[in-house]
Amino acid sequence: MSYLGNIVSSVQTVFEGLTITFSHLFREPMTIQYPDRTPIPVKDTLPLRYRGFLDVQTDICTGCTLCQKACPIDCILIEAGKDPELGQRVMTRFAVDLSKCMYCGLCTEPCPTGAIRFTREFEAATYDVKTLVREYILNGEKIVPYKAPKK
Ligand code: SF4
Ligand code: SF4
Repeated sequence: MSYLGNIVSSVQTVFEGLTITFSHLFREPMTIQYPDRTPIPVKDTLPLRYRGFLDVQTDICTGCTLCQKACPIDCILIEAGKDPELGQRVMTRFAVDLSKCMYCGLCTEPCPTGAIRFTREFEAATYDVKTLVREYILNGEKIVPYKAPKK
């Protein structure tokens, strides 16, 4: 009798399991196909103070290097020096290595002009990690640092 009872119990258990499995065939899916089938762009669902990739607005950058000094893991590389042709200080490189960045925000805090700030961009999938080094001064350009008005 217990032998038969075990068989019945096994069939019952399998049936219960399959009931749950089959019930999912008739339910609305809980998952959303990202990124092409989201009802609204994911960027529009992010909180206001979301920290995405850093961006640098070079035309208001004073070249003070405070952001570079504040970064605890050396993500920011600024090259600046006196240009003999122009006779003044210029920036020749401003790069941020997003592959190292931990989005702590320490670089944005000391910036006197808000030139370095977070964006709402977050999609960084890449086959080549080197593409995550964002260069803000390209083609050998020389940028004269911004001088904020005295007021
Ligand atoms: S957010 Fe933090 S880790 Fe990223 S560059 Fe700024 S200071 Fe460095
Ligand atoms: S981004 Fe801001 S903190 Fe960094 S060098 Fe430019 S002005 Fe200075």
